[in-house]
Formats: sequence, C-alpha cells, structure tokens
Amino acid sequence: MQYDVAIIGGSYAGLSAGLQLARARQSVLVLDTGARRNRFAQHSHGFLTQDGADPAAIAATARAQLRAYGTVSWLDARAERASVVEGGFLLSAQQVPAILARKLILATGVIDQLPEVPGLAERWGRSVFHCPYCHGYELQQKPLGVLASSPLSLHHALMLPDWGPTTLFLNGAFTPDDAQLQQLQQRGVAIEDGLIREISGERAVMVMQDGRSIALEGLFTLTRTRVASDIAAQLGCEFEAGPTGDFIKTDATRETSVPGVFACGDAARAAGSLALAVGDGVMAGTAAHRALIFGQA
Ligand SMILES: Cc1cc2nc3c(=O)[nH]c(=O)nc-3n(C[C@H](O)[C@H](O)[C@H](O)COP(=O)(O)OP(=O)(O)OC[C@H]3O[C@@H](n4cnc5c(N)ncnc54)[C@H](O)[C@@H]3O)c2cc1C
Repeated sequence: MQYDVAIIGGSYAGLSAGLQLARARQSVLVLDTGARRNRFAQHSHGFLTQDGADPAAIAATARAQLRAYGTVSWLDARAERASVVEGGFLLSAQQVPAILARKLILATGVIDQLPEVPGLAERWGRSVFHCPYCHGYELQQKPLGVLASSPLSLHHALMLPDWGPTTLFLNGAFTPDDAQLQQLQQRGVAIEDGLIREISGERAVMVMQDGRSIALEGLFTLTRTRVASDIAAQLGCEFEAGPTGDFIKTDATRETSVPGVFACGDAARAAGSLALAVGDGVMAGTAAHRALIFGQA
C-alpha cells in the first residue's frame, strides 16, 4: 500500500488535514482507532455553527464527507510503528505490516490522566470537566468547584467565578501562599483544605473525609495529558513542555522537527479545542501538500 500522505488519527484535526489533501486530489490514508478525547461528553460547545451539537455527530459528518472523496482510504486500525525510509515513511498497523507514505501527519490527540478521586471518572464529561469555555456556561451560574491537581489549579480557580460561585478543593495538591490567598479572596473563591473521600450524587456532591458534603452543579479539574501514540517519539520528533504535559513541537506550518512529518490538534499544542484542531489540520494538510510539490512546506 502506497500513499501520498498517511494521517494517523481520524478525528477533528486529522479529518480537517485530510479534507485539504483530498480536495487537492492527493492519495490519502487515514488510520483511526475511534477514541476521540471528548467521547465522554454528549454536547460540544464553542465551535461555530455546531454549538451544543453532539461531538460524535460532528466527527461522523466530517468523516462521511471526507470518505466521499475518491482518493481517500480509511483503516480502522492502530498505527503501531513508523520509520523514515527513502522517499518517505514506512508504517505498520494492526494486521497491515507495510504502508508507504511520502508524508506523514500525526493527529493522534492526547490521553487525559484523571485525578484519582473515587467517583470522578464516572462523571468525566457529564458534570466534571477541564475547560470552562466548553462547559461552564451550561452550569447556569450555580455552585462550582475546582479540584486542585497541582499549583496550576490556582489559575483555574481564579477564572471560574465568571461562570458561578466557586470553591477551590485543595485536597492536598498544593498550599496557596499569602499572595495567592489574597488573589482567591479578591475573586470571591471559597477554599476547602480538607481531603475528599469521594464524589457522589447526580451532579457532583463532594464528600469530605470529615463527613461533610458540598453539593456542586459542576466540578473542574486539570488532568495530566500525554500524546496518545508514541509514533512521534519513534521518529525522533522533538517535544515541548506544556502546562499539563509534553506535546509535539511544530513550526508555523505544523511541520515537526523531522522533515516531512506534520502534527496537528491536541497532540501538537498546549491546550486544544475542536476549532483549534480543525484550524491546525488545515495548516498541516496544506503544508504537507506543498511539501509534496516543492520538497518543503
Ligand atoms: C470531556 C471533554 C469535553 C470536551 N468538550 C469540548 C467542547 O465542548 N468544545 C471543544 O471545542 N473542545 C472540547 N474538548 C476538547 C476536544 O475534545 C479536543 O480539543 C479535540 O478532540 C482535539 O481533536 P484532535 O483531532 O486533535 O484529537 P482527538 O479528537 O482526541 O482524536 C484523536 C484520534 O486519533 C486516534 N488515534 C490515536 N492514536 C492512534 C494510533 N496510533 N493509530 C490510529 N489512530 C489513533 C484516536 O482514536 C482519535 O480518534 C473536550 C475534551 C474533553 C476531554
């Protein structure tokens, strides 16, 4: 199997990159394992014309539109290995030992590592979130919480009062200094410094170790993130340190430090969204096309 471009990851970023290439009549293979980062949420917000839509439906429509192009092939399979060979890249995937592509686009997204608090994982994407721009408005200015996972949670707690009265649950993750306490006070943030036993209830009832319960409409927490595939590392791509985890380093055209390898979406930025993934995908797709013609993006 030989293609102009192989795209690893067929969600928002990969689909957007593929669309540009398909419209330039390039042969494209998309490999995808179907584990979008937002698969836990029933509604997606903040993406023009799709505000409040089902994120699975957005991806399904984009996939159907891309697959309608005659030069696009699709494999529901995990890309496992990649190496640089003469003229491009050699990939292997589940049950497909050898795929040759002249250019490669990495759009694998990231995996969220959630704080280990009983009851949190079951509520992820329903009443526990990381991004207030995505899910804050719908909480109707009712009581909100921030579960601290690192000192960065201070930033989260200082932002959140614009979406509702906020309590910061320190849970042993960090201790704010005097200046930080003053900032929290100025923003009207309440502080709970006890440990959390579990999260229960329909939305998010914070059950403290001392037996008290604090009912919230929504809880926000910062996850640790890691790029969902090690293919960038196998190829020797450089990474950058982000606030929640490392991501693939790219230039303005979304080319990585390995020539001919492009990266887009959450895998290649410090913090992402559908709109940013789609924009990155346009850049990566058009840059990969230019690289096929001119040798560089
Ligand atoms: C709970 C939650 C709610 C969110 N809500 C919103 C929202 O309302 N609005 C918004 O704009 N953003 C939201 N986001 C963020 C949004 O989900 C991401 O920014 C977006 O999904 C990034 O798109 P992507 O294409 O880069 O990666 P993803 O959507 O994560 O897709 C990556 C794809 O690559 C595939 N893949 C990974 N490794 C391989 C491999 N080796 N081989 C083949 N395929 C592979 C995966 O299976 C997946 O299909 C939310 C995130 C979470 C966690």
